[in-house]
Amino acid sequence: LRPVPSDNAISRAQKPKKITKVALELGLLERELEPYGHYKAKVDPKLVMERLDEEAEGPETDRGYYVLVAGITPTPLGEGKSTTTIGLTQALGAHLKYNSIANVRQPSMGPTFGVKGGAAGGGYSQVIPMDEFNMHLTGDIHAISAAQNLLCAAVDTRMFHEHTSKTVSGFYKRLVPAKKGVRKFTRQMLARLEKLGIQKTNPDDLTAEEIEKFAILDIDPESITIKRVVDCNDRFVREITLGEGKNEASKFPPRKSGYDITVACEIMAILALSSSLKDLRERVGRIVVGTQRETGVAITAEDIGCAGAITALLKDAIKPNMMQTLEGTPVFVHAGPFANISIGASSVIADKLALKLTSPTNATNNGSKGFVITEAGFDFTMGGERFFNIKCRAAGVSPDTVVLVATSRALKLHGGAPDVKPGQELPAEYTTENLDYLRQGCANLAKQIANIKQYNVPVVVAINEFETDTKKELQLIQEEALKAGADYAVPSNHWALGGFGALQLAEAVSKAVVKAKNEEQTFLYNVEDTVENKLLTIAQKMYGASAIELSPLAKKQIETYTRQGYDKLPICIAKTQYSLSHDPALKGVPTGFTVPIREVRCSAGAGYLYALAAEIMTIPGLPTHAGFMNVEVDDDGQIEGLF
Ligand code: ADP
Repeated sequence: LRPVPSDNAISRAQKPKKITKVALELGLLERELEPYGHYKAKVDPKLVMERLDEEAEGPETDRGYYVLVAGITPTPLGEGKSTTTIGLTQALGAHLKYNSIANVRQPSMGPTFGVKGGAAGGGYSQVIPMDEFNMHLTGDIHAISAAQNLLCAAVDTRMFHEHTSKTVSGFYKRLVPAKKGVRKFTRQMLARLEKLGIQKTNPDDLTAEEIEKFAILDIDPESITIKRVVDCNDRFVREITLGEGKNEASKFPPRKSGYDITVACEIMAILALSSSLKDLRERVGRIVVGTQRETGVAITAEDIGCAGAITALLKDAIKPNMMQTLEGTPVFVHAGPFANISIGASSVIADKLALKLTSPTNATNNGSKGFVITEAGFDFTMGGERFFNIKCRAAGVSPDTVVLVATSRALKLHGGAPDVKPGQELPAEYTTENLDYLRQGCANLAKQIANIKQYNVPVVVAINEFETDTKKELQLIQEEALKAGADYAVPSNHWALGGFGALQLAEAVSKAVVKAKNEEQTFLYNVEDTVENKLLTIAQKMYGASAIELSPLAKKQIETYTRQGYDKLPICIAKTQYSLSHDPALKGVPTGFTVPIREVRCSAGAGYLYALAAEIMTIPGLPTHAGFMNVEVDDDGQIEGLF
């Protein structure tokens, strides 16, 4: 339709297929599916993987083509990565008849009800039903909140109980209570004993000294790194004081803390990076909650005895959720770690499952390879870098092609056109032909292409077409992209035309994937290198910086992590996505700058360090006119006003 109706109107006008039908078309069996209503289902990855291995007569090594959708340095309006991910999947699946699966993140309800709106794609390239996609889904984010908050409650309570106990032996007796006269260590207590090198399994055999070592964690309240979470842009809980109730405050000093948005917590990153339930359990056990006061030793969720219960809360969340595109092709929606301090990509487990389902041996593929299209948040330089160096390292598989989404508006912005702001009309430079700004701005596109090429992978530039783009503008971007080394560059009109509008893109992608060299995975840096060198490599090779500058705090933190043995991890640098540099005002391709590293933190369970090159808000706020104000439900339960 022209004009293109609202996202919600498009979603509602299409009757989705029953999710069981979508799953059966992909070759899944009913027993592998756990439907949640008619249009969503969880898929049990273990059952599917085991069956497909069996059908392939041995561990299946072949897989579908793996395609990463990334973007150039965006405007605050978003340049259409999600929309392109879905449009391309529709073109490959519904039009070219490949098995084609889109793997996307589950959106947080913070942005959905805040400024950004939903994340289901847009126009005629969407995940449907978009209201179910944008809220609750199957409850994974709620499960993560419950898990993280349980851990926080466990830590504060442990400090309280240790502090208020009169004797160590009395505390030990309550910690390892006798049941019918017998005292037994839990599995996690045994793990703690092993960590301490105490080779005893009977609680009655520990010496007084061993009891103290084992039972008294003596966590320094100042060192606590975890926060409670809520899936809402609630700025008023950024800083709070814990333990002000009279029963607590009279015995244990209240402490300052705050909330993060759920998707910013480490457990979300763990969900995204785990390859199995077993792996998730181990990673959860490694979460560092703080350090011991006297020794500076890291105290983990395993030490607190909370890792088993957290895993229990996540045992369903680890199963990818299946939905469908507007054109009835399958979509996995799984995990949604924050794009600034975390990887901003969907889960390893969903990618592996989808790659297996698109392998030639899955009967519904008729002997050919299908496609898995997934997305990295922010621009390639941030999201793509983490995708390759953190996610692919964890998964052991890398993309066969990167699709780089570019828009004329972002390129014009980099070429010197005036600023654009959400909610405000676009300046005329954007809605009328302007080849000068565009040509200038293509330097950003060229740098992003060069950055992708460092990973030894074919690049397809997808020019996400807007109604006001002219033929000459599209042609110019195409020429500049090819000049900069892109393997293919095509315009794509999937927002207005759905999969049909992305056919040229789909053809380019299907040619690019066969060019992929499938040699060893290429990483930007060696994890064994020092933290400082790894930071410098990312800043120089990706951002184009000359140097980094570590704050005294960052230096101290690096020393601590090195001493604790957490320095051999990949690194996620949190900075603005609006510039290749750390400064959002520097458009185009800035050079000669120094990236300030204010802090370095550790997500030991997720398996990476993260460095802050800017002040990062880990729980956004709501604006005066927030998204939630538009939302209503009619008498039949139909939701209106989501976008
Ligand atoms: P990203 O994933 O890069 O943040 P999205 O795919 O979410 O971007 O798109 C951002 C917004 O722009 C969405 O509201 C989407 O509907 C809209 N949009 C994307 N592509 C187009 C287009 N070609 N024409 C008009 N609107 C578009």
